Amino acid sequence: MCVDCVKEEFPCRDTMCLEDGSYLLNFSRCARCQELGNLSIEDKYCSEDESGLELITYQHVCPNCGHIIASHEYSFTVEDGYMLYTMSCALCGEAEDQRSVLPYDDRQRSFF
Ligand SMILES: [Zn+2]
Ligand SMILES: [Zn+2]
Ligand SMILES: [Zn+2]
Repeated sequence: MCVDCVKEEFPCRDTMCLEDGSYLLNFSRCARCQELGNLSIEDKYCSEDESGLELITYQHVCPNCGHIIASHEYSFTVEDGYMLYTMSCALCGEAEDQRSVLPYDDRQRSFF
């Protein structure tokens, strides 16, 4: 991870969990080659452990010189009827979200 290329380290993003892409608004410039602009995504890796936790990791890389800007981590799991998402990345920030697995909540169920 490199702190010179981002404007703010691990900014708070509330519920904005990204499993792909780059938060370019927080990208300052490549500290090594001074390149401004887009970032490549490399070494994308997806795994799942025995508890059903899905983990997606990848790296934000400068397409010009190959400098690694930040490592991105995204996780997804289902717990007690809720889908839980987390994101942690120096560039994209930190976020957490949860959504009910059911398409309707308990109040609506009484109509069926
Ligand atoms: Zn850097
Ligand atoms: Zn660069
Ligand atoms: Zn990221």
